[in-house]
Amino acid sequence: MNFKESCDKIYGRREYPFRLYFMQEKRKGDTGMRLRNIPRAEGVLEAHDKVIKNEKEYKGQWKAVFGNEHPVYIEIGMGKGQFLIEMAARHPERNYIGIERYSSVLLRAVERLDKLEEEKKSEQEGGARLLENIRFICMDAAEIGEVFEKGEVKGIYLNFSDPWPKKRHARRRLTSKEFFARYDQVLAPEGQVEFKTDNQDLFQFSLEQADEAGWRVLMSTWDLHADPAMNQGNVMTEYEKKFSAKGNPICKMIAGR
Ligand code: SAM
Repeated sequence: MNFKESCDKIYGRREYPFRLYFMQEKRKGDTGMRLRNIPRAEGVLEAHDKVIKNEKEYKGQWKAVFGNEHPVYIEIGMGKGQFLIEMAARHPERNYIGIERYSSVLLRAVERLDKLEEEKKSEQEGGARLLENIRFICMDAAEIGEVFEKGEVKGIYLNFSDPWPKKRHARRRLTSKEFFARYDQVLAPEGQVEFKTDNQDLFQFSLEQADEAGWRVLMSTWDLHADPAMNQGNVMTEYEKKFSAKGNPICKMIAGR
């Protein structure tokens, strides 16, 4: 009996506790498979007009997807979408794509967007979507070179990326030199990678990896919220709110080449 079958037997098909959904997805994620195995998440994401299916087909065509010439920004490891949705609301002159590996997590972002739009719509006349400049993709960021053309992305946001604390997993960190090489493939020449974390070891690692990968750290701080210049216009992520409320300083770097 496999993992899914044993969960089905114990909990019933649609009633696993969230942690078990996540474990089930994580197992599949570790094999690099697409993560669309939760019945409710699968259905909602497939049907949702803001979730891009077959994303590799749009390589080089992202401006056509949005129907305008605005620059495209991506957030990798978007989580439940708080940061991305706020950025899209603040910057209608930009397009935003959120990338998240787990469908169960992406589902939360999609539901957040729908709820926000429902609330806003009930305040005003008409049925038009309020955020036309946002899309989501369920994928492993290791594949971004197959999804975006060279120079197609204007900016990359990495917020509170998983630390992968074991040394043998360092290549999986989204700020490893292997990932910087992937960003190099898709980012516009003047484009920047912006990274925030409260994990100081990961931050130190990231500064070193950017340098090793031949990038320049243009700005950095070990205490973002106490740095008026870097904190100006800062949009807090879900993890940022949680960890700064605990008193952890937030680190941020901006890198370019
Ligand atoms: N950015 C959000 C925030 O700051 O609140 C969520 C942070 S959470 C710790 C990291 C997220 O990155 C998780 O939702 C995880 O699934 C996602 N993630 C990690 N590695 C990824 C990868 N290779 N591709 C896409 N998403 C990834």
